[in-house]
Amino acid sequence: MKYDCVVIGSGVSGLTAGLILSRFGRRVAVVEQKPHSAPLIRRFRRGGVWCDSGFHYCGGLRPNEGFTPLLRFLGIQDSLGLTAMNPDAYDVLVTPGGGGQLRFPIGLERVRDTLSGAFPDSRKAVDAYVDRVDAIHRQMPFSASGAAPDEIFLHENSIRTIGSFLREVGAQEEMLRSLDGYGTVLHGTNIDETSPYVHAMVVGSYYYAAHTFKKGGDSLVDAFERRLKEAEVDVLCGRRAVAIRADDQRRVVGVEIEDTDDGGRDFIACDLCVSTIHPKILVEILPRESVSPRFFKWVERMEETFPPFVVHLDLDPIPEVLRNANMALLHEEERGEDDPFLAILGTSLPGEDSERKSLCLLRKAPRYRPTDPCLGRAMARDFGAGADPCRDWRRSASYAEFKEAMTQSMLDDFEGVFPETRGKYKVLAACSPCTFDRRAGAWRGSIYGVKHLAGQRNLGPVGPLRGLFLAGQNTSVASGVMGAITSSFLAAAQILGWETVWSEVRACRDTE
Ligand SMILES: Cc1cc2nc3c(=O)[nH]c(=O)nc-3n(C[C@H](O)[C@H](O)[C@H](O)COP(=O)(O)OP(=O)(O)OC[C@H]3O[C@@H](n4cnc5c(N)ncnc54)[C@H](O)[C@@H]3O)c2cc1C
Repeated sequence: MKYDCVVIGSGVSGLTAGLILSRFGRRVAVVEQKPHSAPLIRRFRRGGVWCDSGFHYCGGLRPNEGFTPLLRFLGIQDSLGLTAMNPDAYDVLVTPGGGGQLRFPIGLERVRDTLSGAFPDSRKAVDAYVDRVDAIHRQMPFSASGAAPDEIFLHENSIRTIGSFLREVGAQEEMLRSLDGYGTVLHGTNIDETSPYVHAMVVGSYYYAAHTFKKGGDSLVDAFERRLKEAEVDVLCGRRAVAIRADDQRRVVGVEIEDTDDGGRDFIACDLCVSTIHPKILVEILPRESVSPRFFKWVERMEETFPPFVVHLDLDPIPEVLRNANMALLHEEERGEDDPFLAILGTSLPGEDSERKSLCLLRKAPRYRPTDPCLGRAMARDFGAGADPCRDWRRSASYAEFKEAMTQSMLDDFEGVFPETRGKYKVLAACSPCTFDRRAGAWRGSIYGVKHLAGQRNLGPVGPLRGLFLAGQNTSVASGVMGAITSSFLAAAQILGWETVWSEVRACRDTE
């Protein structure tokens, strides 16, 4: 088998990379270890109700701006069934101790007014914050200014955190705490870990626009699959990349893949490889002798965002405030690092279209320890039973108890805010970090992959071998579906030339 390029991983970033490269005439194969492409963002169905997994909503889809031209270039924009979130309160943040509700509206100036009203003592800080978000969005890659991407993230990341920026401009405690909680939910890191850039790219993108898709993540999967088929990109599922091969010039020559059913191995020759997998998996399949030890050390130091525990509920009707909107209940600090919030994701509209969709509760899973070398072993230690705890823990009574207790505490918090729902919903599914790890290929179940830490050199599009490029949520752009898509455009721009890709994307702006 010979291709121009092998893309490893078929998440949204891998599918994007495959589509862009084929559009520029490259013969591409995308290899995916799981039986289906994009396992993280696919929905699943329980009792006739659809449950969203790794996609609920996204920001930044402004007419002709933000991420819209990228989706248009991919040819998927019109088939997503774009549904705007509640324009007056797409996200509602409930601060602890009766501190009130912060209802985020769509529109940067409306967000400015909302924050100024909520934090009158921090007015100047609110102005500085909103202006900073806007300035960053103007510089974002593939934005109107067309700034070349390379230096933006690395430079900004090395300067300071969004927390230190907010303190410098005079933000008071309440504003800091609210944005800290909001950021933790949306980018998986707190304000003292995150650069202004990553915060603006993720949290800030929702200030301009917030959308969901008619069939959630399935809308994306369907649109990608259709376009990839038309472009004759081979998506090889049930195939795990087990080794990237290089010649003595440290140039990629191919990828060895394993059939996950029968263990049979094949070699795919290629000149280019785009890896979208977690860097801690990538280091396992790189030819060690061809890669600088510094790369391995660098990856070893990377920390993970938290793994979530998710409970899906069948509830109809859902409370009005959750109609096409989400809520995050921030907890008192005393409840501890492991338990900072409960997110209630209502990005569905039960009863308003033909499909029934679940209401989703999401919280950081408490048992996880960042130092655990292996999620399975950590779970086995906590829940192991029988002669082979690594194999048996999922059937152990203590794991069942853990899931039960976790589910109950989330339901208690939910009912605390919505007492009228008591006895009126059904629990459809409870997903632990292992569910995300094993079913969806999310390494150790972490919600957004590696933390994008301020001051840390994040992974860029250039890999540690010639002909190897990196993309996906673990690279420097930002987490989330739109961050992952953008990262693949950056990798493609690195391969094909910035102007080549940018001129095509530019042609997809101003087409309405
Ligand atoms: C519960 C949850 C809710 C979320 N909600 C949202 C949301 O509302 N909005 C949003 O924007 N983002 C959300 N996210 C984050 C979003 O899902 C991710 O940022 C995004 O899907 C990452 O895409 P990716 O392509 O970078 O990575 P992935 O989707 O993880 O793709 C990597 C792929 O590589 C495969 N793989 C790994 N190793 C190998 C190998 N050796 N060989 C072959 N294949 C391999 C994996 O199976 C996987 O499919 C959520 C995440 C979670 C967990």
